[in-house]
Amino acid sequence: MNGLLFDFDNETPLKPADKSPEARIAELSDLLRKYQDEYYIQSRPSVSDAEYDRLFNELQDLEQKYPQFARPDSPTLRVGSDLEADFAEVVHAIPVLSLDKTHSKEELMNWVLKTESRCGKAEFIAEEKIDGVSIVLTYKEGLLVQAATRGNGFVGNDVTANVKTVKSIPLKLTQPVDLTARGEIFLPLEAFAQVNDRLAVPYANPRNLASGTLRRQKSAEAGEIPLDSFIYEGFFPEADTPVTHAQVLSRLKELGFKVNSRTTLFSAGDSQAIAGYIEKEREERKTLPYEIDGLVIKLNDIKMRNELGYTGHHPRWAIAYKFQAPEGISVVKGIDVQVGRTGRITPVARIEPVVVSGSTVSNVTLHNQDYIDMLELAVGDKVTVSKRGDVIPAVEAVVEKNELGNPVWKMPSTCPVCGSALVLDGAHHFCKNMQCSARVKGQIIFFASVAQMDIETLGSETIDFLVDNGFIHSIPELYTFDFNRLKDYPGFGDKKVELIEKGLEKSKGTDYLKVLSSLGVPEIGNKVSETLIKNGIDSIDKLLKVVDDADVVKLTSFEGIGEKTAQIIIKEFSSPILRAQIEALRRAGLKFQQEAPLQKELINNKFAGQSWCITGSFVNFRPRTLAAAEIEARGGKVVSQVTGKTTHLLVGAEPGSKLDKARANGITRIVDEDEFMQLLAEA
Ligand code: NAD
Repeated sequence: MNGLLFDFDNETPLKPADKSPEARIAELSDLLRKYQDEYYIQSRPSVSDAEYDRLFNELQDLEQKYPQFARPDSPTLRVGSDLEADFAEVVHAIPVLSLDKTHSKEELMNWVLKTESRCGKAEFIAEEKIDGVSIVLTYKEGLLVQAATRGNGFVGNDVTANVKTVKSIPLKLTQPVDLTARGEIFLPLEAFAQVNDRLAVPYANPRNLASGTLRRQKSAEAGEIPLDSFIYEGFFPEADTPVTHAQVLSRLKELGFKVNSRTTLFSAGDSQAIAGYIEKEREERKTLPYEIDGLVIKLNDIKMRNELGYTGHHPRWAIAYKFQAPEGISVVKGIDVQVGRTGRITPVARIEPVVVSGSTVSNVTLHNQDYIDMLELAVGDKVTVSKRGDVIPAVEAVVEKNELGNPVWKMPSTCPVCGSALVLDGAHHFCKNMQCSARVKGQIIFFASVAQMDIETLGSETIDFLVDNGFIHSIPELYTFDFNRLKDYPGFGDKKVELIEKGLEKSKGTDYLKVLSSLGVPEIGNKVSETLIKNGIDSIDKLLKVVDDADVVKLTSFEGIGEKTAQIIIKEFSSPILRAQIEALRRAGLKFQQEAPLQKELINNKFAGQSWCITGSFVNFRPRTLAAAEIEARGGKVVSQVTGKTTHLLVGAEPGSKLDKARANGITRIVDEDEFMQLLAEA
């Protein structure tokens, strides 16, 4: 079973229990209602969409074969309800239904043929199916008076206050018209990655986080999440109704709505081209800055639509083609815990290798105990595995409990590396022992990394060796240890020792900004270090003075430093161990005073609007932050990850996985060092 992807055209990997059709129909109806509640109301589904769709299809098939057992309230007949008691209810003037859907191109083309046999050769319009939350907006004389969720299709929840915080939803239209508009509220991928990282129990995907946000009781909290929207339907007063959907879209745009420009019109007789369009979209999907879960094909002519009408569940004039969810099924062989450089403990599932989105996954982070409890995960369970944002592997759900009777996995009480007791702090467990060798290794690896002090040849294997053999116990010892002692050990010839020493010597020239952020103090990354320096705290002595005065007021007066960060700075820099390390590094010759001015003069704006990512090492830019500085000095932006928005990837020797990602993502231009030098000269 391992390595098996969900395949809706073939037999599904999970066989239902051997039950009578009547019992199975009843079981599936109850199960799907439960899943709908978790998905629409709690925004915390316990099964993946692929699993839900599989069970839904199974129920639909059974109901077709045995209509006598179908329940009058079957989930296949009604839209899943997201109604919630905490919000006022509003009746929809026009029912808001779901969409008929298929995962097969053949079925889609059959639907097109069937529709043409009813309406004659017709124009079709294709849109992306945005994976967000359905929203119904009511405008009176051009002013937004109400925003409601889909609810059960007939009655929705009033979420006006929260929707007003979504910047792309106009509060006032460009014309004083009466109108009902429908669309999707979603969270762009980049914002999802940033916001989700801060949450104790991360959401499975941007859709769930967007849905949870719209259900916040305090709209100020909703406003902190940068939701976005695309509007795709408009219902105008009769005299003002456009005759085609394409006209509806351009009218919506004119009124000030954000309308997805990636819409394709197929002229009458050209419907066979839809198959090619699907393939093109499937490819381009990876480069989009938001998630789509499929495409929606609609009749363009509004009159024809009205003639075809609706079932109780969906319109007959549209169909959704859903992409097959990139999921695999695997078995959890074990759960290990990893100790990070801050002492944070992360449970990691070791799973039977499974191919998801084209690569093999065998280790998956499980974040923390809360996440494991939410999944109710035990060793031996069969699980679905996805790649969030097509990159980060995640265990989505347990699809079959283990037969060994293993209980839900629990965090050990002691650190697996040093044996000291683990402490729960917020949502995470921590090993508080500063001398724990896993923490020490993590700190040194971070300190020496390319993005930080960039100490060449001091890679993680060498650091493991140094710590495991008791040669080094802290960062400052890198500068006092006699590396010549290693020459007798395999792999440490004269050349290697010489390179390490050279790398360490060179690091003494690194400016204070980098030294400060390389200490690995929680919250003191590049951004906070830069903020401190820009605001005059440009040496360690000035920083320690603020800490000794416990001057929270001063720290929080700097834009970008809040109360929480200020408290952490004071707590961390009060630690005698950290202070001793700083003094030792100062004695070793590292810079603890910013010398060069931080704000580089902007040379010009030739790279404005460009977003650059950097990978590999360079001849002319060492450390490679020098290349970043050149880009920024020309108005460009430098990002740490390749995303759909990255316009350029600067590639040096031995590039990492970013290169593969940029290649897959057609819109990123790949630039080598020579071309980069040329671009700099031109700009
Ligand atoms: P759906 O989300 O698959 O499709 C209908 C919705 O698509 C519309 O309501 C609309 O909001 C949206 N949409 C996005 N772009 C659109 C566009 N351009 N034009 C028109 N509509 C557009 O259907 P649904 O009934 O809301 O939900 C069913 C799906 O939700 C299932 O197929 C499953 O994937 C998922 N689900 C999952 C669970 C779970 O437990 N994992 C539970 C319930 C539902």
